[in-house]
Amino acid sequence: MEECIFCQIIKGEIPCMKIYEDEHTLSFLDIAKDVDGHLLVIPKKHVTNLLDADENTVHHLMDTVKKVANHCVSDCGYEGVNMLNANHQCAGQSVFHLHIHLIPRKTGDALPGFPKYSGAQHSLEEMHARLTMLKQ
Ligand code: 5GP
Ligand code: ZN
Repeated sequence: MEECIFCQIIKGEIPCMKIYEDEHTLSFLDIAKDVDGHLLVIPKKHVTNLLDADENTVHHLMDTVKKVANHCVSDCGYEGVNMLNANHQCAGQSVFHLHIHLIPRKTGDALPGFPKYSGAQHSLEEMHARLTMLKQ
């Protein structure tokens, strides 16, 4: 079976443009060239996505997400950052090694913020009954 592309990047078998690295995590430029400064942050441990990640892996990953996002704002001339993450193919995940996308933002950069969804079909009450984790 072909090995995970991000695991190959971690091992140095495929090159990447590194932004940050520590014992548990790596951040590098996304090759998409869709938005200037599009970054990825990944754990060095292979987990498929956030849903199957253990607590320590999430902890290390989010520490680095925060560190790199703060670096974009404090040191690189940006004002904010979007963080995006897809879990499973149905949600748009195309690389099945956990990653958080960081999109550095500036006022007036003309990029969308939160995706504009439309077309909800059910009432808030129905969706609350389906999704709540609290005893009714
Ligand atoms: P997803 O669609 O799973 O949320 O995001 C996967 C991301 O990985 C995409 O934005 C894609 O451009 C990026 N990507 C895929 N292969 C490579 C690669 O070999 N190198 C880098 N730097 N990024 C990659
Ligand atoms: Zn992997």
